Amino acid sequence: MKFNSFTPPQRTLMGPGPSDVHPRVLEALGRPTIGHLDPQFVAMMDELKQLLQYAFRTTNPLTIPISGPGSAGMEAAFVNLVEPGDTVIVCINGVFGGRMKENVERCGATAVVVEDAWGDPVDPDKVLLALTEHPEASVLAFVHAETSTGARSDAETLCRLAREHGCLVIMDAVTSLGGIPVEIDAWGVDAVYSGSQKCLSCTPGLSPVSFSPRAVKHISSRLHPVQSWFLDLNLVMGYWGGGDTTPKRAYHHTAPINALYGLHESLVMLAEEGLEASWARHRRMHDALRAGLEAMGLEFIVAAPWRLPQLNAVRVPAGVDEAAVRQRLLAEFDLEIGGGLGALAGKAWRIGLMGHAARPENVRLCVHALGVALAGVDGVAPDAGNAAVSALLDDAAA
Ligand SMILES: *Cc1c(COP(=O)(O)O)cnc(C)c1O
Repeated sequence: MKFNSFTPPQRTLMGPGPSDVHPRVLEALGRPTIGHLDPQFVAMMDELKQLLQYAFRTTNPLTIPISGPGSAGMEAAFVNLVEPGDTVIVCINGVFGGRMKENVERCGATAVVVEDAWGDPVDPDKVLLALTEHPEASVLAFVHAETSTGARSDAETLCRLAREHGCLVIMDAVTSLGGIPVEIDAWGVDAVYSGSQKCLSCTPGLSPVSFSPRAVKHISSRLHPVQSWFLDLNLVMGYWGGGDTTPKRAYHHTAPINALYGLHESLVMLAEEGLEASWARHRRMHDALRAGLEAMGLEFIVAAPWRLPQLNAVRVPAGVDEAAVRQRLLAEFDLEIGGGLGALAGKAWRIGLMGHAARPENVRLCVHALGVALAGVDGVAPDAGNAAVSALLDDAAA
């Protein structure tokens, strides 16, 4: 048997993640591997923490990347803040809220579910009712940017309600970080987790997290030890620092050295561009994509005020096989977009404009390719779509 090296095709990644990785990040990944306690590596880790504080808009000392994908960050938040017997209010308006509930239950706690329709934001009135009816609740958990539907929720209001009822907040910012405002300190989020592969232009596999001093105090005064050894922040802090007492770095697990070079590079790029400029770029690209798709005759699923610029969910026109269209985009245009999940399966496309993918050539390609794939479908006007995109993007360039 003979095997050859794997050479992946060059795709354009405009699905729900992973998204296009910037060439500078790919280049950083190939730099020499050094020891995970090498003084130069430790210095890089310290910078990485500062860069993450910048991205999260926080001064939390415990702001680090977890060695694992966004799901590991999610699990880290729940296993550290939730104990057996606790009550947690969980907001579900898509796939990822559902996973939060599973995490709560696997921690031996009770989940009080606040449910909203897929495509709607979390309703603060329902959350207020749940907080009032469950004074024993210790944590409120919600997803800021529901990647399964493209809906943003009002994080600031939800955090205020939690604070007024003495609850800690766990917020999923996997798809929001870098793409729309995320204000950990201003909003008062106690535990937040994100992912490297969505709006940070980096490869998958790392989960930036941040825990407030309140959360750290809560963790250190737990009655039961954290059930996960690997994700126990009391132990992780010994390697990364970030707790109250961190004189020296000790081995916990071998950090994914080269992957962290990649994340560092992606955050250096974010700082160079500026967070606000990055949010504005996602917004501009969304405006151009929306103009194109709507002019073509496609409809958005989420109401305008709650649309995520970085995740655009559009309705599949009647009679169109959504999976066949995605296959055609991949085969003919090397373009990946996402299909609908759960309640939206077969009914929606999810078009990502995340990180390095949020750029003019991607918007043009996507609208053009969808126009080709949908040519001849009733009510679809491909030329109008392309013209609308050009009008916005050419204008901006002039
Ligand atoms: C992608 C995503 C996750 C999970 O991240 P993985 O890196 O796939 O584990 C969690 N929450 C949201 C909102 C996401 O979009």
